Amino acid sequence: MSVALTEARVQSVLTRTTGYLRSVCSHSLQPYRGCTFGNSLCGVGCYVQHYGFLTRGAAWGSFLEVRTNAARVYGDQHRSERRWARRARQSFSIFMSSSTDPFVPQERRFRVSRAVLEAMCEHPPDALVLQTHSHFVTEYLDLYREIDRLCALRIHISIESDLDRLPYLPPPASSVAHRFEAALRLKRAGLRVAVTVSPLLPIRDPRAFFERVAACADAVVIDHFIGGDGSPGGERTLRTALPTAMAAVDPASTSPAYRERMIEEARAVMPGRVGVSVDGFAGRLLPAS
Ligand code: SF4
Repeated sequence: MSVALTEARVQSVLTRTTGYLRSVCSHSLQPYRGCTFGNSLCGVGCYVQHYGFLTRGAAWGSFLEVRTNAARVYGDQHRSERRWARRARQSFSIFMSSSTDPFVPQERRFRVSRAVLEAMCEHPPDALVLQTHSHFVTEYLDLYREIDRLCALRIHISIESDLDRLPYLPPPASSVAHRFEAALRLKRAGLRVAVTVSPLLPIRDPRAFFERVAACADAVVIDHFIGGDGSPGGERTLRTALPTAMAAVDPASTSPAYRERMIEEARAVMPGRVGVSVDGFAGRLLPAS
């Protein structure tokens, strides 16, 4: 699918969070509108495709708006938004990003995320969660060291399965092996890393998978599309091709009971380092049992 690329100057890049993100961070920040990983495996069930105000009728993965002035606008907004967070008795914490990926391939050309991270070195939030599906995240290691010195930085890398392919669906934007390598590299650099298994896909060898996670991350976050896609019973995802492909690999994987089973598998390998759903995204972990 070809991508319609546009450049835009925006009025605001810091959005006060609502819904499930509210207990995770005070703000979200999207350097792009749209996501060119929408044509890859994670895009199939991606909940953002259902947000008409973002897609404006275009197919998910078919467009990308580059917010060229995002870093400057962050510089303009951070003081007032920090004050707002203080008044709301919250820390000024940023989730980057919830409706795009900061490391889409076009980031190599436009460097909007990099510019925003550089602006955060000047004006750090209290906490930053960097969320990605791409191993390209490791390219800005120099900036993370500085940001980590200035605020509580946590890097989330999505690895939803030990399988690179599900039947009939496109490949992932970044292979499972590349994402594990990226997590390990960040961890070895002394950064706090969480692997987000979200949405949970069928895992061929759970014990080996969570041992691999344990070696490269401080924590693992497990979420299922039922209860995790923003609709009460996973209806949003059920309208996509994802559940059928999951069932073709393991019919049990489309049930929330699968999530419970994987949580127990993870806790056996990583006691005290397992988070579930929104609590996990917020860094709240289950106690070691
Ligand atoms: S990277 Fe995130 S926002 Fe982009 S398509 Fe995948 S799940 Fe959706």
